[in-house]
Order: sequence, then structure tokens, then C-alpha cells
Amino acid sequence: MARAELTIDTHTHSNLSPDGNDPAEQLAAGAAANGLDILCITDHFEIPEKEDAAYRDLLQIRYHEVLQTRRRHPAGPCVLAGLELGGAIYDPAFAEDLLRRYDFDFVLNSLHHIFYPDGPVDYYNVDYRQHDAQTLLRDYFEKLYNQCRLGLYDALAHIDYPTRYMRLKGIDCPLEPLYDVIDPVLRLVAQQGKALEINTSGLFADFHTTLPGLEIVKRFKELGGELITIGSDAHAAPLVGRGFADGVEIARQAGFRQIAYYKRRQPVLVKII
Ligand SMILES: [Zn+2]
Ligand SMILES: [Zn+2]
Repeated sequence: MARAELTIDTHTHSNLSPDGNDPAEQLAAGAAANGLDILCITDHFEIPEKEDAAYRDLLQIRYHEVLQTRRRHPAGPCVLAGLELGGAIYDPAFAEDLLRRYDFDFVLNSLHHIFYPDGPVDYYNVDYRQHDAQTLLRDYFEKLYNQCRLGLYDALAHIDYPTRYMRLKGIDCPLEPLYDVIDPVLRLVAQQGKALEINTSGLFADFHTTLPGLEIVKRFKELGGELITIGSDAHAAPLVGRGFADGVEIARQAGFRQIAYYKRRQPVLVKII
């Protein structure tokens, strides 16, 4: 199994995310216990839910909490202030303003919501019996392309996000028939000089693959992609860093010789060894 010169997790959630369990302090302690060198805390901000108090009021708190954690643990893993920005396409001006107001180290680009006439719904909550799987995914990738075009991010998170829940519900969702809409996303991310995330959370679900799997990571490389980040998407301290070695191995098999993390929105390259 391949390793990297540093052990890194660039996708984690504290309890300031609606679905997170532990405070930033505990994530830092979990990162130290799991031997991490770099921990980036990327709590959610969902543009489609921006009127929700959880998002409206907590952004400032979560940002400062990460900075405080960093100050309190000067000898522990390097703690970086990230953000998982969901659904920028729903209000690009708001998203842009938000990124301008905070000095984040790293911004993940996510699309968690499908748009219904009566409002957006997280793919986690979608009733898949109401949809043709391929049509739903096609719409998702087309919208994701438009969101990437905004350029308001450093790494594209879990590019095949809806498949996480479709697979868990036993819905077959091959991606090959969708390469005509997936390749433009990968090509755009590569041309923008942004990173593709290997999200290791799926390794521990019933379907046992990273999001995305090796084939998509290979395509990213073939289409000119140069930057890969690896994140556990941990929502609890003991899970920080989980699957990192598998993520590095997939990056290596896809032809990458280094991975990246971000400081002050700039990539820092780390060799695969
Ligand atoms: Zn996400
Ligand atoms: Zn996440």
C-alpha cells in the first residue's frame, strides 16, 4: 500500500456542522491519536439553506473555533480552517461574498441538493423511487458543471455524491453511460487548476469504494488533472484520517505521484512514497 510523506485529512466536520458530533478540539485530539500531520476542518455551509440559523449565525463561530484550536495545539497536527461550500450555484453572489469575508485555508465544492419546485432537497433525503437513476445523475452532473464554472473552490468534493445514497438503497448506478457529462466536469476542474477529492467515506459503507472510484480518478488524470486531495468526511473524532492509505493508493494507481493540501487557498504538494 502506498504512503505519502505526510498523513492528511482535508475533509472533516466538527459539531458546528448540523451532522457533526465532536468539537474542533476533539477532532484535533483524534487527529493526533490517529497519527495525522495535517487536519483541515471543513464544516458545512449550505447556500440553499443559508436562511437557516445553523448556517447564518455559526459561520463566524466555527471559523474562529478552528483558529483557536490551532493556537491551543501548536505541537499537534497542523489544524487548518476549511469550508465545505454546498450549492454555490443557488446564489453565486452570496457564496462569493462569504469567501471574501473569511480567510479560509481551503474550500471544498459540493452539490448536496436536488432542486424541486417547492425547494431544494439533499440527495440523502430523495425518494429514489420517483426518479430514473440515469436521468437524475445526468441532471446532477450538468448542474455540477455549472457550479464548477463559478470557480469558487479549491477541490471538488465527492464528485459522484448522489451515488452514495443510491448504492445504499440498492439502486444500480453505473457511471460509464454518463461519461459524456462527467468528462466535461473533470476537464474543467483540470483546466481551472483545481483539485479532485478522493473521499474515503464510501470505503466504510456497504458498497466499499471511494467517491469517486479509481476509474474516475484515472479519467481526471488523463484529462489533464494534476491535483488530488484526500478526505475522510469524518463526522466524529475517532474517524479522522480513516481510509487515507487507501486514498493514496488509488491516487498512485491513477498515475499521480503527489497529493495536495491547502494553506491560505494555495496547494501544498506532498509526495507519494
Ligand atoms: Zn459533502
Ligand atoms: Zn462533508
